[in-house]
Amino acid sequence: MTINQCPNCASSAYIKSGIVNDRQRYKCKSCGYYFSVDKIGKKIDEYYVNKALQLYLEGLTYREIERILGVSHVSIMNWVKKYNIKRPTSTNYHPTYKILNALELSKYFQKIENLSGAGVVVTELGDKFMLIKWERFRD
Ligand SMILES: [Zn+2]
Repeated sequence: MTINQCPNCASSAYIKSGIVNDRQRYKCKSCGYYFSVDKIGKKIDEYYVNKALQLYLEGLTYREIERILGVSHVSIMNWVKKYNIKRPTSTNYHPTYKILNALELSKYFQKIENLSGAGVVVTELGDKFMLIKWERFRD
């Protein structure tokens, strides 16, 4: 898993800012937050665990979550087991999803036809947003 963002605001604009306790320290240029490599590793892990389990509960498959988050489906299966996550089995519904930036997201919500007849959930995903939508399979 590569570390490429600020644990506070998820910006990738950070600079090296000295060594503290034998660890490289970084400063985020976007929010001014200081962090070290160890700290960011742990925070990012928690972020991905939470996100992966959230997406799992929304009905996405392990492979889909792997593709979206870049986390191995084996890790996700382990987390699901570890936290004993159970989801209701439903074969009639499967979510579709889009990855949007803030501007695309606001445009999406301006169109009423995008909102009617379907449930929508928006979740943060790094510096973008993920929109999850349920529609009954048409078959
Ligand atoms: Zn930041």
